[in-house]
Amino acid sequence: MTQDQIIRELLEISGLVGGDILLAQGGGGNTSVKSDDGDRMWIKASGVRLSELKQGHGYIETNPRIMTEALRDQRLSTLSRTDAQLEMTQRTQAATRDASSMRPSIESGFHALLGRAVVHTHPVYVNAFSCMQGGEQALADVVGEPVVWVHYAPPGYALAVKVDVECAAFEKQNGQAPVEIVLANHGMIAAAASGSDAIAATLPSRGCRQILFWSIAVGRAGP
Ligand SMILES: [Zn+2]
Repeated sequence: MTQDQIIRELLEISGLVGGDILLAQGGGGNTSVKSDDGDRMWIKASGVRLSELKQGHGYIETNPRIMTEALRDQRLSTLSRTDAQLEMTQRTQAATRDASSMRPSIESGFHALLGRAVVHTHPVYVNAFSCMQGGEQALADVVGEPVVWVHYAPPGYALAVKVDVECAAFEKQNGQAPVEIVLANHGMIAAAASGSDAIAATLPSRGCRQILFWSIAVGRAGP
C-alpha cells in the first residue's frame, strides 16, 4: 500500500469515529495506520480532534518499532513513573518525523504495539461496563468469550505497558492477538489488519457485539 492510500485509510477511519459523540468526545480518542512492513505509523497528533483530520493536517508519522523497543526496555520499568514517562516522550519524539510542529498523541505507545490499524475510542456503551464495579465479569458473562481487560493506568507509558502485557497473555492463551481491548475507567481499543475491520469492531451500527454491549448497558441503566 502506498503512503497516500494509508493516509486516506487513516482519514476515513478518523472521520467515521470522530463524528460520533457516543464514541469520541472533544479531543478524545485516536487512530493510527501502519505501513505494510510495520516500520512506519501515521497517527493522530496531540491536541487535534479526530473529526479535524484532513489531508496534510492533524496526523504525524512515527516509527512504531523504536517506540515498542522503548516500551519493552526493562530499564524504563525500574524508573519512577514520571521519569519513565519523560523518557518515553523523548524517545517518541525522536521516532517522529517533523516533531517540531506537532506531537503524536500521548496514547501512541499502545498504537505502536498493536496491529496495523488501531482505533481507540471512549464509547459510552463500553464505558457503562468499564466504569462499573464488577464490570469485567459482567462483560465476560454477556460476551461469552474472553475479553481483554486492562486495569486502569494513566494514559502514556504506564497504560501502554499494561496493554502490552495483557495482549501478550491473551495471545499466548488464544493463539491470536485480540481485536478488542477494554480499558477500565477509560474506553476501548480495536486493533486489526485493516481500518475497516477496526471500525467494524468499534461502531455499534456495524459490530454485532457492540450492539449487544450497548443494549445490555441501556438495559442496566434503565428503571
Ligand atoms: Zn483514551
